[in-house]
Amino acid sequence: ACLWCWNQFPSDARHRTDTVVKEGKAAILFPSANEVFYNPVQEFNRDLTVVVSLSEETNEAEAQTEEKNGSEEPAVTAAAGERCERGLRVLEGLAASGLRSVRFALEVPGLQSVTANDFSAKAAALIARNAQYNGVSHLLQASCRDASMLMYDMRAKKDRYDVIDLDPYGSPASFLDAAVQSVSEGGMWKVSDHCCNCKYSTSAEAADTCMYALRIILHSLDQRAGVYQRYIQPLLSVSVDFYIRVFVRVFTGQATVKNSASKQALVYNCVGCGAFHLQRMGRRTSNGKHMKYSAATGPPVGPECEHCGQRHQLGGPIWAESIHDLEFVQKVLSAVSGNPCRFGTSKRIEGVLSMVTEELEDVPLYYTVDNLSSTIHCNTPSLLQFRSALLHAGHRVSLSHACKNAIKTDAPPAAIWDIMRCWVNFTGEKEKLFLVILNTACFTVREDANPQSRKRHLTRFQENPQAFWGPKARAKAGGGISADLQDKRKKFQNKRKNQITDSSQLKTFPCKKFKQLRGHLCKRLPTPGMDLLRGVFSQTRSM
Ligand SMILES: [Zn+2]
Repeated sequence: ACLWCWNQFPSDARHRTDTVVKEGKAAILFPSANEVFYNPVQEFNRDLTVVVSLSEETNEAEAQTEEKNGSEEPAVTAAAGERCERGLRVLEGLAASGLRSVRFALEVPGLQSVTANDFSAKAAALIARNAQYNGVSHLLQASCRDASMLMYDMRAKKDRYDVIDLDPYGSPASFLDAAVQSVSEGGMWKVSDHCCNCKYSTSAEAADTCMYALRIILHSLDQRAGVYQRYIQPLLSVSVDFYIRVFVRVFTGQATVKNSASKQALVYNCVGCGAFHLQRMGRRTSNGKHMKYSAATGPPVGPECEHCGQRHQLGGPIWAESIHDLEFVQKVLSAVSGNPCRFGTSKRIEGVLSMVTEELEDVPLYYTVDNLSSTIHCNTPSLLQFRSALLHAGHRVSLSHACKNAIKTDAPPAAIWDIMRCWVNFTGEKEKLFLVILNTACFTVREDANPQSRKRHLTRFQENPQAFWGPKARAKAGGGISADLQDKRKKFQNKRKNQITDSSQLKTFPCKKFKQLRGHLCKRLPTPGMDLLRGVFSQTRSM
């Protein structure tokens, strides 16, 4: 087919109907008929990937300098766009237009080669054209193969890639086995997932949250790696917009692989009140110098929830260890804030990464204030009031970058429900319910309840930026997306009710709606919520 319009033969440059899109230092040709190849919302993803690779590259350079036995001169690294003989070998497994690979070639120094692969012959031709158009053909090779087969072919130690980037439409699950074998020792593996929860062998029904999906992916990566005596070390894991992106390093080592089970956990999630408990899959104990790995004991919960008397759902397994390497994140963060004009989405990268550095590392999952309130049908406390109450009670608390109203805390569920009961009492709702308050909570707002990233008003979450915001449809064979879908989008765009984003207005009295309903609340509230409110189970616990 014609290289320019993909329809007629022979090739004729007059058939050319390209659109040029500029992003970062790249200018990419897109056939106008196939707009699906370019998704501007993904710019954040690509910017983040480039800036992470920049930090990775400085790592390599430092390592090389150290190898020179502490000589004063830093190792000579080729500039961006130049080929470096001892540099990094990069593979983008599902490259589509090649935009990300072209940006790599133009913006990241110290590369030996970039292989941009796509199963579609049209895409591979487009990649080759874009490499030429941007003058990086000496660095960037287009490849047209099944990504898994390509990676299986390159799994011999001498052939492995230093960086493997997988960003498929939908789930990356089917590529993991090939990818984990073809990453070099200590190499970086970047995986995106646009369709969380569906293709892994774990159940995510219990708590359908972004953080959950993120940890399920990390679990899958580590499990796959374990098959080949390898293990992962998460550097940065984010859940933004409609996708998940994780950056991990891969190492080989039998001893650490033995430890893998103790890093994974099942989650017991109460269907009544949402309380969750983690059950580690293995136990690690230290006896002097040696680590001992043994079977875990459990379960951590009884047959009924101790707070509301309901059953538990089982979810996971999930990755229960830290999902970021804070030192690495700081490095990336300073690379962005030191050069704010470099990337189109610098502000948001700074916002998200700042939140990441504030997150409690050792608390895997979170509650949302909205869910807690809806369980007992009460007015929602403001984020600041709730955080203050937890801090007053001596617990640690943080937000999460993955969800606007998330509360990460080391407080046990019992303490959280104590606070919620006090909140109901505090706001004067439901005085007819004879609340039993075991521990009084204080809702006076503390200065340290407001995290830096929130105080500085950093852009942490994306506002819908444009029409047709959202995941792009899979490319059709003939190009473009179906008219049906286009109509649907027009019909439903921005039809969702605007959510209130400003939680700074402090509520100390019940809202109008609740005042009107108060007389009927007792009948409307389902049993677990009522039991929670009355503290039925807490009372038996304290006796
Ligand atoms: Zn419960």
